[in-house]
Amino acid sequence: MERRGGQRWVGSRRVVHLATVSFSVTLILLASPGIAHAHAWAFFASTPVTPPVNLVWIPIVFIVGSIALDWRILRQHTSFASLIWREITLFLVLMLIVFLVPFFLDPGGPAFPMKPYYGLAWTPWILWFLFWNCVLLVLFLLLKRRLASGLKLGAKPKSQLLKGSIVVYLACLIPYLAASSTLHGWAGGYVEGACYGKLRDLTWGLLKYAEAHEGHLPQADSTMDLVNAIEPYLEGKRTHTPPGFRDPPWCCPLEYARSQHPRSYEWDASFSELTLDEVAQRKPYEAILRCPLSEFVHKNPTLTVELFFKYKEWYEKSPADSGG
Ligand SMILES: [Zn+2]
Repeated sequence: MERRGGQRWVGSRRVVHLATVSFSVTLILLASPGIAHAHAWAFFASTPVTPPVNLVWIPIVFIVGSIALDWRILRQHTSFASLIWREITLFLVLMLIVFLVPFFLDPGGPAFPMKPYYGLAWTPWILWFLFWNCVLLVLFLLLKRRLASGLKLGAKPKSQLLKGSIVVYLACLIPYLAASSTLHGWAGGYVEGACYGKLRDLTWGLLKYAEAHEGHLPQADSTMDLVNAIEPYLEGKRTHTPPGFRDPPWCCPLEYARSQHPRSYEWDASFSELTLDEVAQRKPYEAILRCPLSEFVHKNPTLTVELFFKYKEWYEKSPADSGG
């Protein structure tokens, strides 16, 4: 008994040492100036320890399930208190590494619970989810081996322990796939800028349409009518679309990422068929097009009458940027 207790403390001291090192590395990274993706996109992979906000219960199931399974295999070899101590240090190290270190990578690794990107779940971005989960699973198995070290396990219980860990880990990924929540993250001011970029592209389409139709905007009862009318004039415009996205010109990039059924920009049909002079008579704050999405740092970006004429002026001043 005493011998086992001694080995337990040697093993635990090593894990505590590892935790201290990870924590120090994290602190150094925290002190690094600026976070690359703070202003743009942060794509955090959902893992059993880093859930999106809609599935925060998964880490609890993961930890409890993992401990229960380990206890079934290890109860002949150690006390429950010793197992809990080892498990706590294991999950502490795992969380320190995955919560904080990849947070400082661009465009992000696992990290904090945030809103899911439903719309990206089945795009090539799923590779980001798979990559980080492979990294984490390997790390998890290495820590499990460390947890079992010093317990003098035979080959069979050792392989049972690792197989059980793989099963628990993979089972915890199923809810993310089922809920299309494989990625989550933060969208900063640059993403709002991309939304305005699209509204500017649409302004270009409206202006070019008006130019070809005696100064009239299209006759359109809905956004889709509008898009059908101006699409020929959007040819070659920048679409402000990040890699891996397939958002069409009439859809905000963030709305595309956040939603399983992305909504288009909202067109105010009372602007249908107006001449540019008539548009100029409307109140400056009236919304010609509005982004349907409202969240922190992205509160319904809007193409107001005032902004429409600002963009018109901008296109006239800088024809080089006007594309075409
Ligand atoms: Zn938007």
